[in-house]
Amino acid sequence: MNKPKDEPGLQTILSHCGRDLEASGGYVNVPPYEGSTIIHDDMDDLFGRVDNHLYGDGTARTYGTDGGPTHEAFYEAMNKLEGGVGTWAFSTGLAGCTIPMMAFLKTGDHMLVTDSVYGPTRQFCEVLLKNFGVEAEFYGPTIGAGIEGLIRPNTRLIYMESPGTHTFEMQDVPAIAAVARRHGVVTMIDTYATPINFQPLKHGVDVVVHSATKYICGHSDVLMSTVTCNEKTWKQVRAVCKMTGQYASAQSVYLGLRGLHTLKVRLDAVGAHTRKVVDWLLKREEVKKVIWPAYEKDPGYPIYKRDFAGPIGLFAFQFQDYFTDVQINRFMDSLKLFGLGYSWGGFESLILRSYGKRTVGDPKIMRTMIRVYIGLEDPQDMINDLDQAMTKMRGA
Ligand SMILES: *Cc1c(COP(=O)(O)O)cnc(C)c1O
Repeated sequence: MNKPKDEPGLQTILSHCGRDLEASGGYVNVPPYEGSTIIHDDMDDLFGRVDNHLYGDGTARTYGTDGGPTHEAFYEAMNKLEGGVGTWAFSTGLAGCTIPMMAFLKTGDHMLVTDSVYGPTRQFCEVLLKNFGVEAEFYGPTIGAGIEGLIRPNTRLIYMESPGTHTFEMQDVPAIAAVARRHGVVTMIDTYATPINFQPLKHGVDVVVHSATKYICGHSDVLMSTVTCNEKTWKQVRAVCKMTGQYASAQSVYLGLRGLHTLKVRLDAVGAHTRKVVDWLLKREEVKKVIWPAYEKDPGYPIYKRDFAGPIGLFAFQFQDYFTDVQINRFMDSLKLFGLGYSWGGFESLILRSYGKRTVGDPKIMRTMIRVYIGLEDPQDMINDLDQAMTKMRGA
């Protein structure tokens, strides 16, 4: 995208974002302000802030749950990066995916959810929302503008995830957002992209969720999400956060802001390492398929190339069909440098055998896939680890 000449570049924005020398007393970083009580000046101030809360724009700080200077610095940075008007941080990624839905749904409503959605978000829709009389219908992630055919008079929300969890389908986000706008339907997206690679609000989406646990915090030491909204949705989402007591600790938010400063260099490194590992896997006869939208032959590549500014270090591959379950588990158990564990986005490489539900796509697809996250280690070491584990697998 062309930017005006005097506007700083992305890396400069990331380096300086969230800086508030007044709040920090001149220190580069705003420290983690944690607390419950905020002392008010006098009764005018106390009631004035209450009025702002109940009847105003809700920006006044009255109590610790509103978040303090650290939160505000982080929110301002996220708003700038995403092009949003309001951001809230939640104590886990999952809370950021689920709680905002309550701002848009009530009994009798219908929502459309991508079949490639993060498993626990699916469960929230299938169990909890169902209990409250909301019908969640799952759609094929690559439906694009065809989603128009699924919209009903009572459809209130379209939920996207791109790339899809474990299966990495790229969604045509601008096309879906355009259809939703024509029908007055709100759109939400959960994405791995980070604002460095893709800014969904600029493509017509109303609410963007990041599991900040992953790339934004980036060191496997925090659980948190961010939800950034446009003008149309912010007040509703903010109200639900308030009513349900959503809060992320100042320490988490502090680490989120710290993570933003180095996000692009970490993503660039992880992307380059991932390409090396993917190139190696593609040449292996044991491997049937690699699924990574940044790979030129991936079905998601055209959309990835159109919408995303850079790669992500998360992908999946499948072994040839003749390998048995026992052999694949032998491979997994033989890895020495890859950690066997959930999550991703940190400095360390991780691996998992996928599982989970699909009701529109192939219901068995998940169990055939191995999900890999490549971290910051020397990629040749990770390749050597995969190589020795494949040798053990063949011998099993
Ligand atoms: C990990 C993840 C979440 C949940 O984040 P947590 O902080 O682990 O609760 C939600 N969506 C996606 C796409 C994720 O990868």
